[in-house]
Amino acid sequence: MVVGVHGSLLAMVVAAFATQWGLTAATGRAEAERQRLVRIARASDDLMQHMLNEEGGLRGYLASGEIIFLQPYAAARDLDDVDVRQMLGLLNDGERAEFEPLITRLHERTDSWQALAVAQIGQRRRGAIAHLDLLLDEGRSRFDAIRAAKAELDKALELHTARRNGANDRRLEVRREISFVILLGTLLGAALLIWFVTVKTLQPLSELALAALDDASFPAPSGRLRIREISRLSSALQGLQGRVHEREAQLARQHDVAAALSAFSEVSQLIEEEAELHSMLARALQEELGPSALHILLRKPGSEGLDVAWPRDHGPALAVARFPILQDPASCRGIRTGVAVSIAEASAPTACECKLGVPEEGSYLCLPMIATGEVIGLVNLQARRPGDFTSERVRLAQSYVGVAATALSSIRLLALARDRALRDGLTGVYNRRFLDELFPKQLALARRTSRPLSVLMLDLDHFKACNDTYGHDAGDRVLCAFVRILQEEARTSDSVIRYGGEEFLMLLPETDEQGAAAFAERIRSAVERRAFGESGLPAAISLRCSIGVSSMPSHGESPGALILAADRALYLAKQQGRNRVVVAEVKANAA
Ligand code: GH3
Ligand code: MG
Ligand code: MG
Repeated sequence: MVVGVHGSLLAMVVAAFATQWGLTAATGRAEAERQRLVRIARASDDLMQHMLNEEGGLRGYLASGEIIFLQPYAAARDLDDVDVRQMLGLLNDGERAEFEPLITRLHERTDSWQALAVAQIGQRRRGAIAHLDLLLDEGRSRFDAIRAAKAELDKALELHTARRNGANDRRLEVRREISFVILLGTLLGAALLIWFVTVKTLQPLSELALAALDDASFPAPSGRLRIREISRLSSALQGLQGRVHEREAQLARQHDVAAALSAFSEVSQLIEEEAELHSMLARALQEELGPSALHILLRKPGSEGLDVAWPRDHGPALAVARFPILQDPASCRGIRTGVAVSIAEASAPTACECKLGVPEEGSYLCLPMIATGEVIGLVNLQARRPGDFTSERVRLAQSYVGVAATALSSIRLLALARDRALRDGLTGVYNRRFLDELFPKQLALARRTSRPLSVLMLDLDHFKACNDTYGHDAGDRVLCAFVRILQEEARTSDSVIRYGGEEFLMLLPETDEQGAAAFAERIRSAVERRAFGESGLPAAISLRCSIGVSSMPSHGESPGALILAADRALYLAKQQGRNRVVVAEVKANAA
C-alpha cells in the first residue's frame, strides 16, 4: 500500500513537471513564430524601402542627367532579390501556398519597374528627354503596381500573423489552464495524501498505541484499515495479544494447579488417618484428571501383598481372588521397577496384562508411590480416551502421588512410633501408658452400652525363683511365653497390658464377673499345662500364675477402683496358696 501511495504521489509530481515543461516549450514556439512573421513583414518593408531608394535616385537622374543620382538606385538594385529570398526562406510549408504567389507577384512588379528603369536610364544617357512627365508617369504607374502588390502582401501577412498569434495565444491559454488544473490536482493530491496518511496510518497507529497503553484489546483489522502494513501490524499485535492472553491463562492455570497441589501437600501433612489420605488423594486425582477408573494399591505393612485402599468397596478377599497381582506385587511392572507406566492405547503390544489396571480400551497410567526410596504402593488411573495421559497430566499426577506417598509414609512412621511408645519392649504387649488411654474409653463405652467389663490382674508365682534358677534371660523368655498364652486365649476385643515386672492386666470388654472368672481359670490352667521345653526353655520349668478378677459394675466404675479390686483379689489368691483365681469381693461402697 505504501508503494502505491508513493507511486501516486510520484505520478502526480511527474505530470505537473511535464505540463509545466510543455507550457514553456509551447510558449517558446509561439514566440519563435511571432518573430518569424515579424521578420517576413520587415523584409517586405525593407524591399519597399529599397525600391523607394531606387525610384528616388532614378527620378533625380532622369530630371538632371547627373550620374550621381543613380547611386541609391545602383546600391539598392539587387537588394529586392535578397529581400524576396529572405521572405520565401522564412515561410513554412503551410504558408507557402498562400504567400509565395503574393511575394512572386511583388517580385515580378519590382522586376518590371526595374526593367523600365533600365530603359529610361538608357534613354536619358542618349540625351535629354522631351517628355519627362510621360516617362515619370509610366514609372510611377509601375511603382504603384509594386505598392499595390506590397499592400496586398502586407494585408495577407497581417491577417495571417493575427490569426497565427491568436491561435498560439489560445493554445497557450488552454495549456496554461491545463497546467493550472494539473498543478492544482497535484496540490490536492498531496493534500489528500497527507489526509490519507494521517487518517489511514497515524490514526490507526494511535488507536493501536492507545489500546496498548489502556491494556485494551487491539482493534481488529477492518475495511477501515486499508493500508496493508497497518492491517498487518494490527493483525500481528492481535496475534501477539492473543498469545499473551493464552500465556496468562496458562500461567493462571499453572498457578491454580500449583496452589491446589500446595494445599493438598499442606493438608496431607495434617492428616493422621491413612484412610482419610487415601480418599483425599483419590478426590484430588478425580478432580484434576477425571479418570474413568482409579485404584490405590498399598503394600500391607509387614507383608508382601497389596491392599486395595481405593475404591473402598473393594472387599480384600474378593479383590485378591479377582486380581492375582495383589498377592504377587512383583508381577506389576510399576511396583517392580519403581517407574511410572503410561500406555496411550490399551491394545498396544507394550500394555500390561494386568486385569486390574488395564482398561478394555483407552489409556492408563500407573504411578508407583515411593517414600524414602521404597515402593509403598501404586496408583492406577484409567481413561476411556486413548492418549489421555499427556506428559503434562502425568507430571501433575506424579506430583500428587509423590506428596501422598511421603504423607502416607509419615503417617505410618508416626503410627509406628506411637505404637512403640505404647508397647512394652520385651513382650510387645501394651504398657501402662496405653492402659491409661484405653481404660477410660472402654469404661465409657461399657457404661454407654450398659455392657459389663472385667479386669484380670495376673502375677506369676515364685517368678523370682525362676530367675534365680535359670537366669534372667530365661526369665525374660518365660515372660514372653506367658504373654503368648494370654494372647492365644484372648478374644480380639481383649487387651493384654504389662502392668509391671511379672504382673499383667487384662481388659475384657463385654465380659461379666462369671465370664471373667471362667476365662481366668482357663488361663491359669493353660499356664499350668504348658510344657516350656518346647519353647527352647529348660523342660523343668513349671509356671504357675495367680489371678485376681474384678468387674464393672460389681467392683466399681472407675479404672482405679476396678484395678484396686482386682489387685486385692490377686493378693488374696497369693495368700490362699497361689495358682488360683480369686474374684474380688463385692463391697457395699464398691458400686
Ligand atoms: P510371688 O509368688 O509372691 O509373686 O513371688 P515372686 O517371686 O514372683 O514375686 P517377687 O515380687 O518376689 O519377685 C518378682 C520377680 O520378678 C523379681 C524380678 O526379678 C522378676 N522380674 C520382674 N521383671 C522381670 C523381667 O522383666 N525379667 C525377668 N527375668 N525377671 C523379672
Ligand atoms: Mg510373682
Ligand atoms: Mg509380682
